[in-house]
Amino acid sequence: MDMTVDPALESHVDAAINHNDQLHYWESVSSDVNGMLGGYPQTSRIDLQGSSNFLTKLRRGRQPASRQALPPLRRVADCGAGIGRITKGLLMNVAEKVDVVEPVKKFTDELVTSLQAGGEGAAQREKLGEVVNLGLQDWVPEKGAYDVIWNQWCLGHLTDTQLVQYLVRCKEGLRRPEGEAGAPVNAWVVVKENLSTDIWNKDIYDEEDSSVTRSDEKFRELFKKAGLKIVATELQKGMPKELFPVRIYALKPE
Ligand code: SAH
Repeated sequence: MDMTVDPALESHVDAAINHNDQLHYWESVSSDVNGMLGGYPQTSRIDLQGSSNFLTKLRRGRQPASRQALPPLRRVADCGAGIGRITKGLLMNVAEKVDVVEPVKKFTDELVTSLQAGGEGAAQREKLGEVVNLGLQDWVPEKGAYDVIWNQWCLGHLTDTQLVQYLVRCKEGLRRPEGEAGAPVNAWVVVKENLSTDIWNKDIYDEEDSSVTRSDEKFRELFKKAGLKIVATELQKGMPKELFPVRIYALKPE
């Protein structure tokens, strides 16, 4: 045994993760916002508002706040997208094309059907890019393709090792700057997840959907291993107190 391992990272609860059990659980869940959010559908608005504000600040960077609209992002991905709650409620408002990655086909079918309807659906329909029915452990983003790769409430379904490998692929999936070599990347991997509240910072295994809830420390360690640095992070405000705290991270290549 390696005795130099940081004790905080010694919890290997992710060994219990089983992708078949995950799919079995999610297949049994209703294809609606209530199903996506585990019985707290009212938190969706707060979540999307927080994400929208965060993304706007991130994109404006050091530029002084201005009323001028930001140009649309060209291509983004919604990963572990479910029925496309974030796709429709956030990403389609800021991007020209949204690719959707989600292992459970009945969820993406629900998204596609909802966009077939008239009204808002019609306007959003053209923005739907590829629909990929894969778990993130198996998805390889196209290299240099994405302005934003959004990962929310799904990364607990990957083991630590899978998550690091996946984040490395995401890093390579970010759009590369045009023009001179060495120009800064202007694209982000976004991670928005629940955080463990364990007093020893241990990750918590959830048998119901075969996922782990990681500590902030664990996330930071895994981002670093993947060669990603945190350029902005915030705790989501206004969530019900009985739920895990929710943190959003914007990541760029080191
Ligand atoms: N991100 C969406 C959905 C959250 S629910 C939202 O915030 O509304 C969690 C989603 O993760 C479900 O749609 C579930 O099918 C999906 N999921 C389950 N296992 C996964 C895996 N291995 N990789 C990616 N997504 C997975």
